[in-house]
Amino acid sequence: CGIVGYIGAEEAAPILLDGLERLEYRGYDSAGLAVYSQDDGLRVVKAKGRLRVLADLVEGGKNIHGTVGLGHTRWATHGEPSDVNSHPQVSASGRIAVVHNGIIENYVQIKEFLESKGVGFVSQTDTEVVAQLLEYYYRGNIMEAVTKVLHRIEGAYALGIICADCPDQLIAARKDSPLILGYGEGFNFLASDVTAVIKYTREVCYLEDGEIAVLTRDGIRVFNHPYLQPVEKEKHHVDWE
Ligand code: GLU
Repeated sequence: CGIVGYIGAEEAAPILLDGLERLEYRGYDSAGLAVYSQDDGLRVVKAKGRLRVLADLVEGGKNIHGTVGLGHTRWATHGEPSDVNSHPQVSASGRIAVVHNGIIENYVQIKEFLESKGVGFVSQTDTEVVAQLLEYYYRGNIMEAVTKVLHRIEGAYALGIICADCPDQLIAARKDSPLILGYGEGFNFLASDVTAVIKYTREVCYLEDGEIAVLTRDGIRVFNHPYLQPVEKEKHHVDWE
């Protein structure tokens, strides 16, 4: 159970795979990537098993292009370890991809609600409701959809979100699951743990419960939920090896 997100100028997939490898110690049963490029759109590759399985599928990152993306290692809580239950979980249109650590406690109610609206589900995970609910609320403004979703979901989450309509940003949100932000020059990271990013940057901050971060190549802005007031974050320099 680990999350990493990168937005910058380099190819994202090898960086994400490297980050996931550094989060391996947390344990996992499946792994996946979502990477966006203008040519290929939002591509998701995921598989049950070791990171090696995922790395082989994307040839170490050589066959999935783009400079923004999310990676995930899963420790299954809802839905058996399988390719389809691996993250990223994707909305029905394929436009929104979500990685999640934690448990959405009220996912059954949300799933029933969405199914009553005609939304079809493909996985057995609690996480898929986040992707599908985002799409349900999405009317062209992803932040608005995120705040509506956070208002409805209960439980623990560290979330990384990417939307193909606004691929120059990543969104992070957390409650009761760890999430850090890493600040670079022309690139930025989100991750479960500092270990995933210290090869690239040692300037980090810790996202608190109820905070939402918007990462672009130029910077990171943090807001509180639900009012979306800007939050000043204190940066920390990590000096351990
Ligand atoms: N509850 C989610 C699932 O089972 C996320 C598990 C995790 O934290 O890796 O898919």
